[in-house]
Amino acid sequence: MIKLESSKLKLLLLIFPLLYGCSTPVTRQPLKSTYLTPVAPKPAIFIPNAVQSELDRFKPRYWKYIVIHHSASNAGNATSIGKYHKEVRGWENGLGYHFLIGNGNGARDGQIEVGNRWNDQIDGAHAGNGEYNKYGIGICLVGNFENRHPTDSQISSLVYLVNYLQRRCNISKENIIKHCNVRKTVCPGNHFPYNKVLARLR
Ligand SMILES: [Zn+2]
Repeated sequence: MIKLESSKLKLLLLIFPLLYGCSTPVTRQPLKSTYLTPVAPKPAIFIPNAVQSELDRFKPRYWKYIVIHHSASNAGNATSIGKYHKEVRGWENGLGYHFLIGNGNGARDGQIEVGNRWNDQIDGAHAGNGEYNKYGIGICLVGNFENRHPTDSQISSLVYLVNYLQRRCNISKENIIKHCNVRKTVCPGNHFPYNKVLARLR
């Protein structure tokens, strides 16, 4: 009985903030679910070899921006948030972001998950803005950074991923932006250390 209540509570904690989430639907080809399986996190310097080879498999189309988000939920992973986007939001391509970075609740701390929209090189559904959904790679860190800070592993993974994507897709540093730069929203939250992340980019 206690277990059931606890799982209901977790579900509510995940879903409720997403009702106020940050995306707009797009219509594209059928969903192909190819989420990456978990890899062991390395908190200090997170070097996800499996993610690297997963990223290298795809020839990127034209991308101009990287848009950073928080999930506004305490827990989540590509499967649970993708399921929500598909079943509740009704987006046929599921997960609106191209990448997710776990916080230890639902995915491992600092774990980078590659969404099907990256694998298929299709528009995101994360910016609430046509230009940025079309040309913006959406990266979402799990957590509500209005209430707490992202973990060190999440930031290490984000820096790693953004550096990689900048190089691979030739995206300038000025175009690494927060969601709130392109839409009226608090995303990615007051405690997201944007300037520190920028300072760690090449
Ligand atoms: Zn957002």
